[in-house]
Amino acid sequence: MEEHIQRRVAKNETLFREVNEAIERGQWPGEQDSPAAFRCECGRLDCNELVSLTPREYERIRSKPRRFVVLTGHELEEVETIVTTGDGYLVIEKRDEAGQLAEANDPRD
Ligand SMILES: [Zn+2]
Repeated sequence: MEEHIQRRVAKNETLFREVNEAIERGQWPGEQDSPAAFRCECGRLDCNELVSLTPREYERIRSKPRRFVVLTGHELEEVETIVTTGDGYLVIEKRDEAGQLAEANDPRD
């Protein structure tokens, strides 16, 4: 993938990740195990889809800066490795340069 496209994709994913952090923070403590609608964190610029998972599951994925949650079929095998398969979603890990960009853009840094 060309570098400028990779950067745009990484920027997009980081934006969705920030949205998801806000969703996660908006949950009450007792709702950690109730499914919530998180944004699909794939690199598609026109993706507006939602992924249903609990804040506890999201937090587990999110604790690794290279990992993202995407709908099944929204993975980019060129730069990502599938870590786990959930109910309708996948947890992917960025490889190589995409992984470095994801770490550099991590809003938790
Ligand atoms: Zn998507």
